[in-house]
Amino acid sequence: MNTIEKFNEHVMATYGRLDIVLDKGQGRSAEAEDGKQYIDFGSGIGTNSLGYCDAEWADAVSAQAHAIQHTSNYYYTKVQADFADKLCTSTGYSKVFFGNSGAEANECAIKLARKYSFDKYGKEAERNIIITLVNSFHGRTIATLSATGQDVFHNYFFPFVPGFVNVEANNIDDLKAKLAENKGKVCAVMFEFVQGEGGVCPLTQEFVNAIFEECAKDDILTIADEVQTGIGRTGALLTSEIFGVKPNITTLAKGLAGGIPIGACLADEKCCDVLTKSTHGSTFGGNPLACAGGKVVLNRVTDPEFIAEINRKAEYFRKGLAEIDEVEGVDGLGLMIGVRLKTKKASDILMKCAENGLLILTAKDKLRFLPPLNISCEEIDQGLGILKKLLEE
Ligand SMILES: *Cc1c(COP(=O)(O)O)cnc(C)c1O
Repeated sequence: MNTIEKFNEHVMATYGRLDIVLDKGQGRSAEAEDGKQYIDFGSGIGTNSLGYCDAEWADAVSAQAHAIQHTSNYYYTKVQADFADKLCTSTGYSKVFFGNSGAEANECAIKLARKYSFDKYGKEAERNIIITLVNSFHGRTIATLSATGQDVFHNYFFPFVPGFVNVEANNIDDLKAKLAENKGKVCAVMFEFVQGEGGVCPLTQEFVNAIFEECAKDDILTIADEVQTGIGRTGALLTSEIFGVKPNITTLAKGLAGGIPIGACLADEKCCDVLTKSTHGSTFGGNPLACAGGKVVLNRVTDPEFIAEINRKAEYFRKGLAEIDEVEGVDGLGLMIGVRLKTKKASDILMKCAENGLLILTAKDKLRFLPPLNISCEEIDQGLGILKKLLEE
């Protein structure tokens, strides 16, 4: 049996995979088992933020593996203390809870928001509704699927978790109406600044402002799901900086540890002590290998020069895309890029790109790019060359 046959024999068929077996990677290129090279504009869905096997990152993770790889949360570790300190001070949050994925980070945020209202207003108040947006994506666990505002995800696994009300993104009237309908029952509003899986659709400044104004009136917590948009992806450490707001809670995952599973739920001074002993936990949460990788990512991404480079390269990338005839428009922020095509089908282009040595993503009917944050202009040119040829043939 070859690798793909063996894989399909024993791994559940929950993904539509390409027939490529990736074996190693270096920088912004991946190599398949058969030796074929690929330029990577997807970086493992925005996880390999420093590309493949960045030397400093790989050294830090290896050193940690040789020192101590895991301890459980019965004990303290220095690497988790250092990472939490750097993460909180650089983002301006008071405390963090570590899990292992975006869904877990959002589960933590949901539990935190509900307990905040439970503690403050009592069980009888039933102040437990969380408003989420139509077309959002928050994860694959039952609660985060329930939070996700896309009907296609609400199938098979009934009953879903009650207490989520959807508001149309960028519709301030709908937001006000749903808040009024559920007055006194809403504990939080949760949103992505740029809806990623939903098609790389940014919120408007006006809508974001409205969320914060409305929530402030009624002691409703704001939860920013920055699992995809956070840690440099959009050209700032957090996308909330770009919108000039400070959510009570921010969740992070994907790129945070440079390709090691991690999730983080950051909470501000108002709600950082809500989750108390035994109310939440995770066996692997705050794993030393993940924290060691995350420290290297954070050191890189908190350098203003690195952020300036992300913005410079994002502009270069976007300009190159806009010059392609078949491209109708370029959406998103920073190096989180969605491309609307005039006539071609995004999924066909993804397949053709792979055949021609370029790995890309799609979101809804758009092409999607989440290249490594340290991609070079030469590598952007190389990938765009392949893309342009395929879009213009
Ligand atoms: C990817 C993603 C998630 C889910 O993250 P997992 O690590 O797959 O659980 C949640 N929210 C957003 C915005 C995402 O992009």
